[in-house]
Parts: sequence; C-alpha cells; structure tokens
Amino acid sequence: MASVPMPIGGASPAHAHDHEDGELSHIEWRVRALESLLIEKGYVDPAALDAIVETYETRIGPRNGARVVARSWADPDFRRWLNEDATGAIQSLGYSGRQGEHMTAVENTAEVHNLIVCTLCSCYPWPVLGLPPVWYKSAPYRSRAVIDPRAVLTEFGVRLPASTKIRVWDSTAEVRYLVVPMRPGGTDGWSEERLAALVTRDSMIGAGLAKDPASLAGAPAA
Ligand code: FE
Repeated sequence: MASVPMPIGGASPAHAHDHEDGELSHIEWRVRALESLLIEKGYVDPAALDAIVETYETRIGPRNGARVVARSWADPDFRRWLNEDATGAIQSLGYSGRQGEHMTAVENTAEVHNLIVCTLCSCYPWPVLGLPPVWYKSAPYRSRAVIDPRAVLTEFGVRLPASTKIRVWDSTAEVRYLVVPMRPGGTDGWSEERLAALVTRDSMIGAGLAKDPASLAGAPAA
C-alpha cells in the first residue's frame, strides 16, 4: 500500500475540518502508522483498503460531475431539480456517498461566477469530483481565493469581464458545492456524452471554464 491519501482516520461522514494546515506529512505519517498497525493486528484487510483507494482513483472522479453538468445543460427539468435539491438530483444519476451527502449546485452565468474553496481544510464533493487536487488543499489557495478571487482566477487562466461578479463559497462538513459552468455556445443539439467531454474538473470548482467546443478532437459543429 502506498502513501495515497485515504479517506480513513477521522474522515467520517460527519467529519468537521481536518485542520491539516502545514501538517500534511505529519498526517500522512500518522495515517500510515495507523494503517500498518491495523493490518498487523488483523483488523483490516490490505486488499480492502486497496479497493477503496482504487475506487476513489478510478471509479469516482470528475467524470461523474461532468455527467451531472451535461444533464443539467441538456434537460431543463433536471436542471431545476439540481438547483432545488442537488443531493437528490445527483443521487438519481448514481452518485452518492461520503462527502456528498449535502450537495448544493451553483450555476455560473454571465453575471455571476462561482468559486469553491474550503478555507479550513479540504472539504470537497468526493462522489462527483473524486479526490481534491493538491492546489485545492494548499494554504495559499485557501486564503487567496477569499481575499482576491479574481487574481486567483487569472492565475488559472480565467479572465472574466469586470462586470461579472465572483461569488466565493466556503465548503464545510455540512455542505459541498458543485459549480455548473456556463454551457459553451455552438453546442446546440449535442448529446450529453459530448457535452460532458467539455466539462473539466476545474470548471466544476469554478477555477476554470468549460472547454471550447472547437478543442474537441475531430468535433464537427453538431
Ligand atoms: Fe474542510
């Protein structure tokens, strides 16, 4: 078993914040020590732990969230449901579980751009986005996203019109956010599968935009 970050050790569904600021290696060391001990005592099966890690690395990831966004773009009824009861709407597509029990979807528009952060640690909607990227957990992102979100977005290559307001949402153990990026123009009539290919992980955190349809390899206009 390698040092893959694991949803064990205090990460119960009702977890508060991990307060891991500057102590990641310390936390990792503790997790590894705990894991070794549990295996040695026969309390956990290393194969079962591997299966959990495998699940989060391959089966659960941003492709799930991309399908949710694509459905919302393509189906007005689903979009309404997602805005009113994101947890239920997302669950209807089969994505539920730890760190996704209390979801809220926030839609980007020309007027408002939403950006997600967890100022205290790294709360993140695992069932739809998988495990958080390293930058999401970094202290600079967590503070600067609140203090100067427009500058942070610029560093991610996102330049919004001055007239677009930026709204920053702080994830907690109680609520996790999914950003629904703006649907790119020129995608009328696209299948949900093709639409999902335009949805990046960063765009669902608000740190990016959906891809330009022209960037899809061999994409004709419809
Ligand atoms: Fe957190």
